[in-house]
Amino acid sequence: MKTIFEKSNGVDGVSIGECELGQFFPRELLRKDSIGLPQLSELEVMRHYKELSDRNFCIEKGFYPLGSCTMKYNPKVNEFLASLEGFCNLHPLQSDEDSQGALELMYKLQETLKQLTGMDAVTLQPAAGAHGELTGMMIVKKYFETKGETNRKKVIVPDSAHGTNPASAKMCGFEIIEVKSNEKGQVDTEALKSLLDKDVAAIMMTNPNTLGIFEEKVLEISKLMHDNGSLLYYDGANFNAIMGWTNPKLMGFDVVHLNLHKTFSTPHGGGGPGAGPVCVTEKLKDLLPSPIVEFDGNKYIRQYNIPQSIGKVRGFYGNFGVLVRAYAYILMMGKNLKLASADAVLNANYIKEKLKGTYDLPYDEPCMHEFVLSGEKQHHQGVSTLGIAKRLMDSNCHPPTVYFPLIVHEAIMIEPTESESKEVLDGFIDTMLKIAHEIEENPEEVLKSPQTTPIKRVDETLAARQPNLTYKGN
Ligand SMILES: *Cc1c(COP(=O)(O)O)cnc(C)c1O
Repeated sequence: MKTIFEKSNGVDGVSIGECELGQFFPRELLRKDSIGLPQLSELEVMRHYKELSDRNFCIEKGFYPLGSCTMKYNPKVNEFLASLEGFCNLHPLQSDEDSQGALELMYKLQETLKQLTGMDAVTLQPAAGAHGELTGMMIVKKYFETKGETNRKKVIVPDSAHGTNPASAKMCGFEIIEVKSNEKGQVDTEALKSLLDKDVAAIMMTNPNTLGIFEEKVLEISKLMHDNGSLLYYDGANFNAIMGWTNPKLMGFDVVHLNLHKTFSTPHGGGGPGAGPVCVTEKLKDLLPSPIVEFDGNKYIRQYNIPQSIGKVRGFYGNFGVLVRAYAYILMMGKNLKLASADAVLNANYIKEKLKGTYDLPYDEPCMHEFVLSGEKQHHQGVSTLGIAKRLMDSNCHPPTVYFPLIVHEAIMIEPTESESKEVLDGFIDTMLKIAHEIEENPEEVLKSPQTTPIKRVDETLAARQPNLTYKGN
């Protein structure tokens, strides 16, 4: 590199490239013109990025009741710990001897997740919930292959499930069979019974489910499945509702994924990074991806010798930084994890009770950490759920999850989490009531929202049909 600068007689990339890079790269691949980067001072660049970041909505700026996503507070100390030099400058190819601290953290996190889920073994490799589902379903598939039951090609998924569930099972080559929910928003066990035969490999369930309702018949369902020789997969995205109160093992599940970035506090707006560890019972232990971190009584090691492993599901060992944050959060909370779940459930029920007279509540049951309203009434008055979501943005509130789960028309799915104060919850309730009132009085005005955001109302249909993703727009 030194010669490149010595021989260069200009500061722009062109002369440097022309002068020396041709020695290393084919000439025809070298850039002929300047790339036209603006000449800016460091301060100006910093201000540019700060301004862009200010346009973002984030949990630091306001309430973020995004149902199914658990946008809880992410303690800043987690960031500090994840950025410690010993953690973030460690290379994944360094030896076990050189990586004892990191391996110890991973081992202890595995042990803690075992305790929380009741399961017997854990892999920390998957990088997201959906990736955990894929890993879990690969394990289910291999389990039946090793038993010679290759006829088990069907996976049952409730109609309230998150879309990743059927998608993950399908990616493993399973056929998806939908089971419907009953009038209480729970799996209809009679319908389930009628679907069971010897070709069913598993059911994928979320409990509490995506309506925020606890599946009361889960023990009956697990017995039905196991009697049929099938397995039960637990989508742990809603684990924030039950930490320390019960666990998937007690409910009869065989495979579980957790979303560390949801339940165990890692910022995940914008899609990542995440971690979706998979926990399994004893009989599935030998199928886990390798390596698993073990402790031999003296030191921590990466164990590659896993007899029937499905193989690796990710380069190296997962999103290590997320694991550090999750473990820091768990240690910091200790027994209060149980309290976090209790508060998350209390907060959701509080908002639900305050809003249910004004908005439709299709499943009027005590909820767990989230609940689903319907904006049907408001839709008839001229503003759909989408409009309500946009209006919330004018009150410094991130919209809830909308139009999911699919079984609720005009769905508005609200998850306040445990980390908000009563004042914030009351402020949100007031805003939701005010919006309903505005829709009755003057729906036209509501349809102009959002009015306070850097980008106002956009034509979402056009954007989806003709996406223009080029820089400066073309
Ligand atoms: C978020 C979520 C998932 C998928 O998790 P990702 O980490 O986003 O891949 C699966 N199921 C449910 C119920 C979820 O809420």
